[in-house]
Amino acid sequence: TFADLEPVKSDSLLALIELARADTRPEKIDVGVGVYRDSDGNTPILRSVKQAEQRLWQDQTSKSYLGGRGDVRFTQLLRPIVLGAHDGDERIAGLQTPGGCGSLTLGFKLLEAGNPDARVFVGTPTWPNHVPIIRGTTLEIVEYPHYDRASRKLCFDRMAEALKSARAGDIALLHGCCHNPTGADLASDEWAEVARIVADRGIIPFVDFAYQGLGDGLEEDAAGFWRLLDATDTLVAAHSCDKNFGVYRDRLGTLWFKTPDKASTDIAMGHVLQISREMWSMPPDHAAAAIRILLDDAALTADWRAELDTMRGRIAALRDRLAAADSELAYIGGQKGMFSMLPLTPDQVVKLRTDHAIYMADSGRFNICGLSDDQVDRFAAAVLQVMHG
Ligand code: PMP
Repeated sequence: TFADLEPVKSDSLLALIELARADTRPEKIDVGVGVYRDSDGNTPILRSVKQAEQRLWQDQTSKSYLGGRGDVRFTQLLRPIVLGAHDGDERIAGLQTPGGCGSLTLGFKLLEAGNPDARVFVGTPTWPNHVPIIRGTTLEIVEYPHYDRASRKLCFDRMAEALKSARAGDIALLHGCCHNPTGADLASDEWAEVARIVADRGIIPFVDFAYQGLGDGLEEDAAGFWRLLDATDTLVAAHSCDKNFGVYRDRLGTLWFKTPDKASTDIAMGHVLQISREMWSMPPDHAAAAIRILLDDAALTADWRAELDTMRGRIAALRDRLAAADSELAYIGGQKGMFSMLPLTPDQVVKLRTDHAIYMADSGRFNICGLSDDQVDRFAAAVLQVMHG
């Protein structure tokens, strides 16, 4: 019964949000948040999305059920953006899900249905929700090293070595771009090597693609994923529109899967729809309908791309400024996306909080765009002082 439940250990990130909120020091810097912020510290609704929502409000005549795949036209319009030259491949199917989270859960449950004994190779560190999602299945977790805190770099050789120990049918979870929490992405030749490894060994890549367009650009950020699609005929990908369209709370994601032939893909879709029916029956509609309107309109799509460019440009500019502040922070310039990790101990993270009103996760992960333009220098100075103090 409920009386027997153990209290859940509080999520340290949620606790951090509370602490930051309670701090009234005017110089406070909150880089713990996991969402994009503009230079004024806001997470605005994109202009293009707002216009699409306005049209949706005017034109929508019914909120009757749509079905398990959600808004099929939305998924169709997103397809060339996510799949590029693989758009026309009938062996790849996709459907709308409640955010990237829903898509990850559904994807792992599909893989479990296909092979309950498969192992999932998960990089360390990774996004903290990956492991609990996989633990909701029978799939076994095997860790592989992704990032070396000491050298502040992707440890690709160790990663590749570990992946080579996977058996046919095992799954390799990979971040498509903008690695969360480290910002350390694979270079082009490293993606090529991973593609060779998964193809040679019959490993199934599972690409978590939550930040398309926030690294180097929509196409550039998909290059690794597309290389895997070139190399293998069995693959799963969880895509999120929550960050690149800024619709976080509306929960907009898609699940994509590729099998060796169209008939198997159709069968897999049947399983996917059965599994998702048990979990959420149908995904929420609002953001999908709005983004469908946006992507169906060339002018709105162009405006969205421009807004995405602005977000990406701000992140890149902040990265450059931090990298230029001190040689110790130079590594931040070469990384991608909103997150990076500082080589701080938990004690040093607490010191930043108490002495400098700077809030970040215990791991040293921080959100680059939590910084307003006038906070960058003070942030860098405080970090260096704590690091050397
Ligand atoms: N994967 C990664 C790596 C993420 O960082 C996030 C969100 N923080 C997600 C998936 C889930 O995204 P969504 O909010 O769309 O569920």
